[in-house]
Amino acid sequence: MANLQLLFRALNYSAEQHKAQRRKGMESVPYINHPIKVTAIISQFIPQASDELIVASILHDVVEDTDATIDDIKNMFGDTIAGIVQEVTDDKSLPKAESKRKQIENASKLSLNAKIIRICDKIANVRDICGENIPDWDYKTKIEYLNWAEEVVKGLSDFHEELQFTFKDEVRWGRLKVK
Ligand code: ZN
Repeated sequence: MANLQLLFRALNYSAEQHKAQRRKGMESVPYINHPIKVTAIISQFIPQASDELIVASILHDVVEDTDATIDDIKNMFGDTIAGIVQEVTDDKSLPKAESKRKQIENASKLSLNAKIIRICDKIANVRDICGENIPDWDYKTKIEYLNWAEEVVKGLSDFHEELQFTFKDEVRWGRLKVK
């Protein structure tokens, strides 16, 4: 990450936007921990990640989950970053089941940067859902999430062997740990 000023501007903005939110079922965990975890996974597996990818990852849930718009992101962070965020933002006007289906359907059409965010987002979520910070979800909801995440990741096709392997491994362990 060459541009630290840009990175901290994004972190600050994302934290501000998500400040009222807590992670699903985890009352004490501030939402910003999630994009930080996703971005940490990206930096671990892709040490040469571009500034645009890192910043888009920090901002990846801002439009979907807060009152920020893609135009806000464009104005503050430019077209490239806004474009990546747009790709990983679900259309909130659709019913939940429909937008989940669309994520599977559109997975193969994503740009490489968006695919990387998508899979690292799923890895982070699977770790949260099946790990120590167990959200307040019942067993069935957790298994449904794992099944859905697998479908989305399958749709991404083979673009990064190590990340695909890590995801599969997390799901495999997740299925054993989940209660
Ligand atoms: Zn996310």
